[in-house]
Amino acid sequence: MRSSALAAITLLAACSPDADPPKAQAAPAAAAPAPSAASPVTPAAAGGGFQMAMPIACEVGRTCEVQNYLDLDPGPGVKDYRCAGATYDKHTGVDIRILDIAAQRRGVDVLAVAPGKVTGVRDEIQDILMNAPGAPPVGAKMCGNGVAIDHGGGWVTQSCHMALGSVRVRPGETVQAGQPIGHVGLSGATEFPHVHVTVWKDGKVVDPFAPDATAAAACQGQASLWTPDAARQLAYKPGAILNAGFAAQPVDMTAIEAGDVSPPTAASPYLIGYVRAINLRGGDQLDIAVRGPGGEVVANVTSPAMDRNKAQYFQMVGEAAAGPGVAVRPLHGHDQDPARRPAGGGADGRDPPLRVRSRGRRSSRRPRSPPA
Ligand SMILES: [Zn+2]
Repeated sequence: MRSSALAAITLLAACSPDADPPKAQAAPAAAAPAPSAASPVTPAAAGGGFQMAMPIACEVGRTCEVQNYLDLDPGPGVKDYRCAGATYDKHTGVDIRILDIAAQRRGVDVLAVAPGKVTGVRDEIQDILMNAPGAPPVGAKMCGNGVAIDHGGGWVTQSCHMALGSVRVRPGETVQAGQPIGHVGLSGATEFPHVHVTVWKDGKVVDPFAPDATAAAACQGQASLWTPDAARQLAYKPGAILNAGFAAQPVDMTAIEAGDVSPPTAASPYLIGYVRAINLRGGDQLDIAVRGPGGEVVANVTSPAMDRNKAQYFQMVGEAAAGPGVAVRPLHGHDQDPARRPAGGGADGRDPPLRVRSRGRRSSRRPRSPPA
């Protein structure tokens, strides 16, 4: 009998390559984004005194995750600061992603990363995912609604994709580190709710995780621009579980993104466990088990090995038409990862710093290239 007290999802994800050699197969799939797998980001005054606090009011690992880093590969390939692929071609910011659109609608603050003076604001772009039916072309305003802040010493940051009407600072205003400047939205070139942050020093894009560009290829990390607290939260992970839960019926990526998943009841025709993971690498597998109150496995499934890096991937496992004697029927994984990374900031990183608003200003920005 199904009970509402039923079940915990046990998640095991095998994370391949990275720094760790593949584990022997004796143990079932190596635990993936376990905290111990995280690599610390070293905070330091690499910026000559300029340090960045968290750009968003969320808790990494619980209410948000880093989806994309900067692309440090100068060519058509991709490489994040740890020489892995959690980025996309020519991405020039950090994308911190919240769990779903329901969370976005409840309101998540975007925060100033450091003290400074607001130099540019845009707050006029509709909130709609760029790949949603009927979404208008993003055009040159890839950043969507955003705020640019001059922190002095040549340091400028810009936060993008804020919610229409949420920007709460004005050009010329002085802000403090951690001050809310708006809400996470769906404006500009974005396929999921997140904040994109670009950092410039003297007009040149800087990776806050690897500000010393001459050492960026070392793959081991380096003194970052983050404050100790932000560095702790933003420790590098080889993949992460963004969403996991139970549903009354099979779900899809759209429902998970929307946060629109109905939980099961004792009368539901299905008990479905689902998991959405991000930044999986080729060879990774998701191993999901649904356990009953007594710890017994009532359904489980192991995904096929990823044939390539996956920006996101979701998998279900379930029990249909449950009852005594009815066989458990695992529902196999759904690879709904498009053959491209979620555009994230799209080419938003190439959106230059917002200027003090001047209507009718001609843009020389390049059009967004299609997602790879
Ligand atoms: Zn981005």
